[in-house]
Amino acid sequence: MKKGLLMVFTGNGKGKTTSALGLAMRCAGHGLKVCFIQFIKGSWKYGELEAVKRFSGLIDFHVMGKGFTWKSEDMEKDRAAARKAWEFARRVIADGSHHLVVLDEFTYLLDYGMIEIEPVLETLAGRPQALHVAVTGRNAPAGLLEAADLVTVMKAVKHPLQAGIKAQKGIEF
Ligand code: ATP
Ligand code: MG
Repeated sequence: MKKGLLMVFTGNGKGKTTSALGLAMRCAGHGLKVCFIQFIKGSWKYGELEAVKRFSGLIDFHVMGKGFTWKSEDMEKDRAAARKAWEFARRVIADGSHHLVVLDEFTYLLDYGMIEIEPVLETLAGRPQALHVAVTGRNAPAGLLEAADLVTVMKAVKHPLQAGIKAQKGIEF
């Protein structure tokens, strides 16, 4: 019996999005379809964008959050954009035509109160049985951790930025 997993990568350390990308690569290697949805504009880096293009037909990627930033000037507009983004993800999850759905930086929508957690948990609980879902982002709410089958908290022990080392190609973007 196949059991789709709910996986959460959270915490303040680096490695959340790259973990999800690693899973996407694994799936693609098996010829399994992935939908990778980025919820924060600009968080998708050039490196993965180009890499993922080479898996077209296997990895679908979608950039949501065109209209919202987190330096909100118009909260209602942001909320509406977040709801629209979630609505899209909800349809992809319910549709079940992928092996893995990644909700990258999704926790921010919950953390900032852009969307309610209950309908999210309902959708996740009611997803197709074999569908794997990975959620990334800092401050994952307790309800999401409870519902998850796998939780990894990235702990920031050291980050090169603290030593003044700037972002480098292939590592940060
Ligand atoms: P990555 O995409 O490298 O896996 P992430 O998804 O875990 O990182 P995010 O919270 O999405 O991390 O932040 C994205 C950016 O912030 C990355 O460029 C990452 O290197 C940087 N970052 C993550 N953790 C830290 C930290 N502890 N100190 C400074 N910068 C950080
Ligand atoms: Mg990230």
